[in-house]
Formats: sequence, C-alpha cells, structure tokens
Amino acid sequence: MGTPLSYAEVSASALVGNYRVFREMIPSDVKMLTLMKANAYGHGAVWAAKLLEREGADCFGIATDEEALELRRAGIRTPLLILGYTRPERIPELARADVTQALPDLDAARSYSDALKGTGLTLRAHIKLDTGMARYGLDCRDTDAAVRDAVAIAKLPHLNVEGMFTHFATADSAKDVYTPIQAEKFSNVYKNVTNAGVKIEIAHCENSAAMLKYKGLQFNMVRLGISLYGIAPSLEIEIPESLRTVMALHTTVVQVKTLKAGESVSYGRRFITERPTKLAVVRLGYGDGLPRALTNKGVMNVRGVTVPMVGTVCMDACMLDVTDVPGVERGDDVLVFGRSGDLFLSPDTQAAACGTIAYELVTRIGSRIPRIAVE
Ligand SMILES: *Cc1c(COP(=O)(O)O)cnc(C)c1O
Repeated sequence: MGTPLSYAEVSASALVGNYRVFREMIPSDVKMLTLMKANAYGHGAVWAAKLLEREGADCFGIATDEEALELRRAGIRTPLLILGYTRPERIPELARADVTQALPDLDAARSYSDALKGTGLTLRAHIKLDTGMARYGLDCRDTDAAVRDAVAIAKLPHLNVEGMFTHFATADSAKDVYTPIQAEKFSNVYKNVTNAGVKIEIAHCENSAAMLKYKGLQFNMVRLGISLYGIAPSLEIEIPESLRTVMALHTTVVQVKTLKAGESVSYGRRFITERPTKLAVVRLGYGDGLPRALTNKGVMNVRGVTVPMVGTVCMDACMLDVTDVPGVERGDDVLVFGRSGDLFLSPDTQAAACGTIAYELVTRIGSRIPRIAVE
C-alpha cells in the first residue's frame, strides 16, 4: 500500500497539549467551548472531539445540525452547541440528541418552540446577540428591543435558555478598538435580561484572539477555535510558544524533469524559466484544497530546503523549482505546511502569500486528503 502521496498528519499530543495550555490560561471556573466546526478546522472532527472528550472538554461548538449529529453518532456525549441557524423541522431530532441550539432572533426561537409542541421534548438553547458583526443574533443597536426579545424568548415553552453569547469582529487586529464596545453592549443586554428575572447560566464572548489579548471579557465561558489547532488568529496576534501546529500537510514528488531557460510551466504558461531549471512535479492541487492563488507565490519544503511553487496550480498537481536542491527524486516527501521533525513551515505564511488566512487554508483541505493521526 505505502503511504498516501498526499496526506495531512494530525498530532494528538499537539492537540491535547494546546488544549491544556489554554485550560491553564483561564480561571478554573470558566468553561471552555472548543470548536469542532468545519471538520475541526479541517483536522477531523470525530478524532479531535474524542481526544478532547477524554480531557474533560466542557462543550463543543459546531456550525450545523449535520455536524452535531455526526459527533453524536460517533458516540460523543459532551454538550454540543450549534452556533448557526437550523431549520425548525430539524429541531426535534436535535432535542432528542440533546444538542444545544443558538437562537438568532425571536422569530426563529418561536419556530423552534412550535416545532417541539406535543413532542414532550425540550431544546437547550443559547441566545445569540449581534453586538456589531451584523451576522446572526438579536440586533443590539437598540438595547431595549434586544432585551425585550431576549426576555420573550426565555418565556417560550419547550426551550431551556441556558446561555447567551456574542461574537467579536476585530479581536484579531492589533489596532482593535471595537471589541470593548461590543463587550459593553453584550454586558448591558445580559445584565438587563438577568435583572428582568431571566436566569442565564452561561455567558460567553471570547474567541481565540480575545482569549489571547483581553483579560476580563471571559464571563463564564470562552470559545477556543483556531488556536486550539496551534495557529495564530492573525499575523498581528502572538500565540504562546508552547502551542504546536496540529496539522502537517505532506505531499510527494512524483516526477522530476529538466527544462532549459525560456521554457514554460503549466496552464497559461504563467511561469517561464529564467535559467536551466530542475522541476519537481508534486501530487497536490486545488482539488485537494491547495489554493490556486498560490500560483507562482507559494513555497514548499523538499529535503530541508524551502523552494518556490512555479506555474499555475493544477487540480491534482503543482510544480516546484528544485534547481538548487541536490538529489531530488521521485518519492521525496514534500512539506506544504506544519511541522515535520525540525522543519516548520507556517500555515500563516503560506496563507498570507496568496492573500488569505490560515483558517481558510486548513478548513479547505479536501476530502481526498487522508488525515493520518499520530501521537
Ligand atoms: C468559529 C467561531 C469561533 C472561534 O473563533 P476562532 O477565531 O477560531 O477562535 C467563536 N465563536 C463563534 C461564534 C464562531 O463561529
């Protein structure tokens, strides 16, 4: 069989180690929701959830009902919070599976409550507040209206409102001034709702960036996403040195050829050799989630040397200029990003080279790439 030509190695000790770093960073009475959405940012949701459940994880966050049910089917028993919208028709099944659902507004909450009428089921729920993302949530530009709607939601039958949360828009920016404003809005609505006699057990705002940057915005739960996987939320945020990148994306040299100066590489002839060039063809393309925008911009590492990607990225392959690397041959391992022995290529740098973020890079690693779990 042999090793697959392209694969994403995911490290259990890195994931669990990162989890413990954050667990120790926050007070012990603050819960930590860890994000398993988008297949655990491309790392493998069932794999990651099983490891963290063993660590005693408080709650997992996902974006969709399918993601929640996949975890339940895999035997995950930890509380699950769906952060996005779900169709009311799907609600009874979620209630039966003891999945917690975010409530983006009064209308949705009503439809969820109605969907449970006569079933004898109750849905656990967290009210989502929109404090400045203009995405899901009760519009908090009008505090009174938001409080009124939240109180009305809490009174609906068949819903057990356990939490309230919001999401920050700019916590990952060095020049951030918006997060404290959002936190203040959240705090106001939360206090008013509580004062109106509604008991909210769990309040949460912080994502990875806010956890790393702010003290005192924690309420009693945080939501850890990208940095659980050892990746900084942005190039402007430093992460603790003790964090390790969980994923390492590998591919393989499948052919080596020699070109003269002035010859072209790949579709559109977007790369023309300037010198006699040794070219390595590697088995990774945009069909595997390698951004096509890395054409003539990305780098990979072969035999310990970081070399440029040249020519248009194809669906299943791309080419590297390995002129300066002695001995490259078919079968050589190629590191695309992550850690491999002493080598490290940051997913941030790779992402930045083509104008995106590491979040997108890792979540887009395709289903054709096997995730190979290692200690
Ligand atoms: C994805 C997500 C997070 C995690 O954000 P990171 O930047 O990855 O830490 C937190 N909250 C919500 C609502 C999310 O959708």
